Amino acid sequence: MTHSRPTILRLLDERGLSPSRALGQNFVADPNTVRKIARLAEVGPGEVAIEIGPGLGSLTLALVETGAEVIAVEIDRHLIAPLEEVLQGTGARVVHGDALAVDFGQILGGRNGVLVANLPYNVSVPLVMRILEEVPAITSMVIMVQREVGERLVAPAGAEAYGAVSAKVAYFAHGGVVGRVPAAVFVPRPKVESVLVRLVRHTPPASCVDVEPSKLFGLIKQAFSQRRKMLRSTLRGQIDEQGFLEAGIDGQRRAESLTLDEFASLARQLP
Ligand code: SAM
Repeated sequence: MTHSRPTILRLLDERGLSPSRALGQNFVADPNTVRKIARLAEVGPGEVAIEIGPGLGSLTLALVETGAEVIAVEIDRHLIAPLEEVLQGTGARVVHGDALAVDFGQILGGRNGVLVANLPYNVSVPLVMRILEEVPAITSMVIMVQREVGERLVAPAGAEAYGAVSAKVAYFAHGGVVGRVPAAVFVPRPKVESVLVRLVRHTPPASCVDVEPSKLFGLIKQAFSQRRKMLRSTLRGQIDEQGFLEAGIDGQRRAESLTLDEFASLARQLP
């Protein structure tokens, strides 16, 4: 059983709750959508699914249906009681906490897991980066985000949405936009379009193995600080003409055209 629109309205009404805009609370009221997300997560019996932002449990119930062990991390204390009630008897565990601060290692207890989340963009980008950088035990993720954010996470070099975040994501994972979610399935209905993004962790590309990650990411950030400017100008003081020559990169190019491998070639020129 997953939630219908009347169930969500009833759960809120019974406790005198209204969705918090600040916490990006748009609850999914469509069984097909949540089951599709659970399918895309590719989890099943014997595996762990960590859901971030379970809200009233729409997606949590669909994850339970897969047979996976489900652990749901919710920040809003007002939702903990209704959530626990909805999940009673399912075996799903609720953790009250901020996904940007909780200890995922402890939550996973030494096991690997798959992350599933439907979050506002101000949380999703830092969360994705935190997971990729700090929690190798999370081997893949499916996240529902605002379309622009989703496209930015997985954009290839040269695409309009390509930026520092895309290059950094490409270091840790590969993936893509795997679905669109119409605004009509949410309560309340958001003003933005949503997409589903799936990321699968990989070992960093061979071109990056001999480059210190902090140097590489610092260079990428600097290069994109003024994305329309030439690299020779944005990286002034860090890479000189000789450095560009040795990296085989034309200093007249702009950050938006450089692949991760090319950024790695430049980072190798840093002192
Ligand atoms: N997953 C539910 C669904 O699909 O119906 C709810 C999704 S709603 C868009 C986002 C949820 O994330 C809310 O329940 C909100 O309280 C929670 N949330 C927001 N920021 C969070 C954070 N930093 N850590 C954990 N949960 C968070």
